[in-house]
Amino acid sequence: MSELATVELPPRDDEDATARVQLTRHFWLHEFSVSAGHPHLATGVPEAVVPAVRRLAEGVLQPWRNVIGAIRLTSGFRSAALNRAVRGSETSQHRRGEAADCRPLDVALAEAWAALWALGRAGQLDAGQVIYYPADGFIHVATPSPRYGAFTPCVRWPASFTGYPVCETWAEFQRLSHVRLAEPVLITATDPASDPGAAAAALSDVGTSAGVPTSDTA
Ligand SMILES: [Zn+2]
Repeated sequence: MSELATVELPPRDDEDATARVQLTRHFWLHEFSVSAGHPHLATGVPEAVVPAVRRLAEGVLQPWRNVIGAIRLTSGFRSAALNRAVRGSETSQHRRGEAADCRPLDVALAEAWAALWALGRAGQLDAGQVIYYPADGFIHVATPSPRYGAFTPCVRWPASFTGYPVCETWAEFQRLSHVRLAEPVLITATDPASDPGAAAAALSDVGTSAGVPTSDTA
């Protein structure tokens, strides 16, 4: 059809400068500009927000990904327009590039949560509030905020259940989520007391030593 040959295509998304920015081994800046329901409102990540996004990728997403394998971000940075479209809270950390909603691709949601729990409890994440959304099938992760200065696991059921109750213990998480997995623990290859140097090395490579199921062997 010769008419089609004269149609001028809009610029491709991947010509956006942010598409070329690699934040960590497995995360790229453009992944934080995403919306399945409102793709036209996912228009990139502003320069001012990039340091926050980088902190999230380095301090939470990559260490977690090292354990559970591939993660798809379903929401990252939200502009005011996108946040309104998804009915996000005005104070949402997504507005500042400090939060991401994640679907694990290689393990079940509960297994991904167990890994996040083990890493967070072991002090291996630069995380604040993290939220398990069993009904929606994703996990919200965020860096520390004034309200949640340290790792704080919460559970969110559908809107008919109010609030985001904090899980102080794994038993509390099990009760709120109906997940029956045993509490995960980080298993290090060496005894920290007997060999501090080797222990430090093991802790820097938790992706191969966490006591949770994972199919990521790469
Ligand atoms: Zn979120």
